[in-house]
Amino acid sequence: MTFKEINIIAPILRALEAQGYTQPTPIQEQAIPILLKGTDLLGCAQTGTGKTAAFAIPIIQQLFLDKNTQQGRKKIKALIVTPTRELAIQIADNFTAYSAHTHLKNAVIFGGVKQGRQTDTLKQGVDILVATPGRLLDLMQQGFISLKDVEYFVLDEADQMLDMGFIHDIKRLLTKLPTKRQSLFFSATMPQTIADLSHTILTDYQRVSIEPEQATAEKVEQAIYFVQKSDKIKLLTELLNDQEGKSTLVFSRTKHGADKIVKKLAQQGIKSAAIHGNKSQNARQKALGAFKNGELHVLLATDIAARGIDVSELSLVINFDLPNIPETYVHRIGRTGRAKASGIAISFCDAEERAYLKDIEKLIGQKVPVINEHDYVDTSAPQTLSKQKQQAKRKPSPSKGKPKQKRRRPNNNQ
Ligand code: AMP
Repeated sequence: MTFKEINIIAPILRALEAQGYTQPTPIQEQAIPILLKGTDLLGCAQTGTGKTAAFAIPIIQQLFLDKNTQQGRKKIKALIVTPTRELAIQIADNFTAYSAHTHLKNAVIFGGVKQGRQTDTLKQGVDILVATPGRLLDLMQQGFISLKDVEYFVLDEADQMLDMGFIHDIKRLLTKLPTKRQSLFFSATMPQTIADLSHTILTDYQRVSIEPEQATAEKVEQAIYFVQKSDKIKLLTELLNDQEGKSTLVFSRTKHGADKIVKKLAQQGIKSAAIHGNKSQNARQKALGAFKNGELHVLLATDIAARGIDVSELSLVINFDLPNIPETYVHRIGRTGRAKASGIAISFCDAEERAYLKDIEKLIGQKVPVINEHDYVDTSAPQTLSKQKQQAKRKPSPSKGKPKQKRRRPNNNQ
C-alpha cells in the first residue's frame, strides 16, 4: 500500500517523500480513508505508531481542497489539543513538514512561556492551531482566539489529558466548538471514563485500534553504559571503531551537541555528519542520502530530524544522550530492528540522566541490561557499584537481561 493508493494528493505526497516516508503505517492506512470521507474517528493508539500523520495528512488534504481556505483572512479551521508542550511542538512540526507545499499555516501555543510571540502569530492568521488546553482557554478568554470556524477538532492523548487533570478544561472547550465539525479522539488506553468522554465528542464514528510500538522495543537488543559526561566521546569513538563501517545512527539531544560530536569524531579520524533543524533541507537530504547508500557510516541526529529515517540495514543506534521523554527512546531504538530484523540500541547514561533511564524502563516494562566491562565505567552509578547486588536484584532469566559483553558486534543477518 502506498500513500498514492489511499488517494493522497500530489503536494502532500511530495512532502512525505521528503520526510522519507515510503508507505503508510498501519494506523495511517486505516484512519486516512475514514477521515477523508469526513467521518469521526476514535483512535486507540499511542505516540510512536505514526498517529500524528494519520490525522494531520487528511486534515491538510481537506483544507487544501477547500477553496474557502485560500481566500481572505485566515481563520482557525483545525484545532488539535494535546496535553504537553513537547507533543504540541512535535505535532506542529509535523503539520509544517506535511503542508510544506500548500498555502496552509499552522501555529502552536502552550503555557510556561510569555504569550507575546504566540499572539503575534495568531494575529497574522492561521488555518491550523495546535494547543495545550490551559493556554488555549487563556488566549480565548483574552480574545486572541475564536473557535467559531473550527471544522476539524482533534483531542490527542485523551487518557494523559485526564491524568493531568484537564477534564474541566476540555469540557469548557467543548462548549465553545461549533457542533458541525469532524472530530477525532485519540487515546492510548480506553477505560470507561475515556470512552464516556469520547461519546460526548464524537458522532457516528469509526474506531481504529493499533498495538503500541512496544513490540519494536522488544525486538531490539538494548544495553546501557554508565559513563561520565566527559568520557562519552571517548566511549563513542571506541564503539564506532569497532563497527568496521557498519551504519550507525547516533542521537544527540541538542543540535549544538550533534555538531560538537561530529567535530570531535573528525579529530579521531571518524567521518560523520549531523542532521538537525539548523541544517538546510539540502544539507540534511545530502547527509541522509549518503548514509542510506552506505557512503557515510555514522550519522548524528536530533529527535526531530531523525523522524522518518528509515534505513533498512541500520544495525546500531547509539543514544549519546538519553531522551527526557521516555517515548522518544522507543522511537529512537525503533530506527533499528525494523521490518522484523533485529537491531542493537546502546545508550550512554551520565549522572544527570539516571532519572530518565528510570522513566524509560517503566515505559518499556523491562530493565535495560548494563554493560559493566568497559574502560569508562562511571563508578558513582549505583547500578555499577556492586555487581552482586545487581545480580540479586535482576529477575532470574538465564539469557535475557544479562549484561552484554564489551565490544559485542551487532547481528547483521538481516
Ligand atoms: P507519531 O506516532 O506520530 O509520534 O510518529 C512516530 C514516528 O514515525 C515519527 O517520528 C514520525 O515522523 C514517523 N512516521 C510517521 N509516519 C511514518 C511513515 N509513514 N513512514 C515512516 N515514518 C513515519
